[in-house]
Amino acid sequence: MSFFTCSKQSLHTNTHSLGFLYCTLYIVEKSIIKYLKKLKLNPTPSGHNKDSWIAKCPNSQNHFITVTTLKDEWGCGYCRKKGTILDLKKWVKELEYLVILDGFE
Ligand SMILES: [Zn+2]
Repeated sequence: MSFFTCSKQSLHTNTHSLGFLYCTLYIVEKSIIKYLKKLKLNPTPSGHNKDSWIAKCPNSQNHFITVTTLKDEWGCGYCRKKGTILDLKKWVKELEYLVILDGFE
């Protein structure tokens, strides 16, 4: 777990004044959206409120996952998957692994 230390102090000095815990949460929040962007899953604010986002499901082009940055959680109702960014990374790895297996058949 790398979330216990802050490696980006210069990028968000202001949040440090609110305490160490807030700082670690801040990094986790940002990283889940950044990770979805890296996967080209097109995360966009859902419009309901500033903490609510949607993105393409890594398992399908035809439906969306929802992301709550406030709680650092995501979920897919179709795939019945949800969790934190760590769960998301694990699931994406599983999906990539399945694609590789398909390629060998
Ligand atoms: Zn899904």
